[in-house]
Amino acid sequence: MEDCIFCKIIKKEIPVDMVYEDKDIMAFLDINPSNKGHTLVMPKKHSKNLLENNEEDLKRLVLAIKKIGNAVMKVTNAEGMNILSNINPIAGQVVFHTHVHITPRYKDDGISFKIQRKAYNEGESKELASKIKSLLK
Ligand code: AMP
Ligand code: ZN
Repeated sequence: MEDCIFCKIIKKEIPVDMVYEDKDIMAFLDINPSNKGHTLVMPKKHSKNLLENNEEDLKRLVLAIKKIGNAVMKVTNAEGMNILSNINPIAGQVVFHTHVHITPRYKDDGISFKIQRKAYNEGESKELASKIKSLLK
C-alpha cells in the first residue's frame, strides 16, 4: 500500500536491520528499541492490524513469531520477553500495517506494563463474558 512505511520496508525502499524474510513474513529490528533486540514481525500482505488478518495469515505469523522469538531470546540472553501487538491509536498503534513486537526482558530493565486494575460491579463480568461468548458461536 502506498504511503505505508512498512510496505516501503518490504519493497526495500527503506533500509532496516532485517532478521528474517520469507515469501509471507518479514522481521527486523525496531529503529527505536525498548531493549536491544526489540524485533518487529509482520506479514508482507498489507492489513491495518492483527484483527484484520485471515486464519492462514495468522498461522504463518504466529509460527514466525515462535521461530524468531526463540532466536532473539538466545542471541540477547533475555530472561523473558513481551510479545504484543497494538491495535488502533488508543492502544499505541502508530504504524497501521499489522506487526507484532518482540521485546527481550531483563530484571530491572525499566520497562513496566503495570496497569491500574478496575473492579467489575456485581454480575457485570458474567454479563460481559456471556455477550462476548454469544458472538463467538
Ligand atoms: P506501533 O506503535 O505498534 O505502531 O509500533 C511501530 C514501531 O515501528 C515503533 O516501535 C517504531 O519504533 C517502529 N518503526 C517505525 N519506523 C521504523 C523503521 N523505519 N525501522 C524500524 N522500525 C521502525
Ligand atoms: Zn503496509
